[in-house]
Amino acid sequence: MRDFTKDHQWLSINTATVKKQWSLDKIIDECAKRNIRVISPWRDQVAAVGIDKIAKQLKSHSIQLSGYCRGGFYPASDSKGIQAAHDDNRLAIDEAKKLNAPCLVLVVGSLPGALQGRAQYKDVELARSQVFDGIAKALEYAVQVGMPLAIEPLHPMQAAERACINTTEHALDICDALDPQRTGHLGIALDVYHTWWDPKLKQQIQRAGKDRLLAFHVCDWLTPTRDLLNDRGMMGDGIIEIQKIRGWVEAAGYDQFSEVEIFSDLNWWNKPGEEVLDTCIARHLSSV
Ligand code: ZN
Repeated sequence: MRDFTKDHQWLSINTATVKKQWSLDKIIDECAKRNIRVISPWRDQVAAVGIDKIAKQLKSHSIQLSGYCRGGFYPASDSKGIQAAHDDNRLAIDEAKKLNAPCLVLVVGSLPGALQGRAQYKDVELARSQVFDGIAKALEYAVQVGMPLAIEPLHPMQAAERACINTTEHALDICDALDPQRTGHLGIALDVYHTWWDPKLKQQIQRAGKDRLLAFHVCDWLTPTRDLLNDRGMMGDGIIEIQKIRGWVEAAGYDQFSEVEIFSDLNWWNKPGEEVLDTCIARHLSSV
């Protein structure tokens, strides 16, 4: 297992971590100042500044991506909605390509409308089959242009609104069905926040192997958790055995970045961005 205690060369910052404090261009400057060489930006943050400007800025700072957030949200209540999701995923793939991302992260979606509090249907099996078809279709284009897709299984508490793929096993079953040759175009983004509780986690990480492990996300699980989405903790402040999970991931062959991704309405989004980034670096040394 790699030693992360000496420097932060393997740290990536998911830019949602400081999205309330700064725009993406400022985030990139602040990362560069701290010798953070890798980030994972969100589409809305990129769009707010302009993708050409961001591409140029990344290049001039020699900052790479560990992923691009995000594609997915495939299910819809009619064919028009399905087509709109497909078109949007193609766009996301093109943007990821333009920014030289190593993968596009997929939050696959679930019951359409549930995120807005108005689920248009209740059939989660239908949502799963629309997700399967949506990934299959996106994969055709992703293979053409050479952009790996990383399915991110989300914690089951997100099963209605954000993702009906909730275990690493389910995500890998889809990878096996759609990419049996293990071409490297389809894999998973493993986030300790979503997966730490899973009794099959170690086994499924071994099953994934190097060619299916496309991204590794870290933060911590606070007790109690006060908000289903935006109460993630800083590494070391919660109950996840992050180093143990990283050990499993690395034993399976993963040798890329560990991406800090913290959504924190009640704490970190209210602190100065400088303090948040400095703390991410310190905790990456001590607790990842
Ligand atoms: Zn994540």
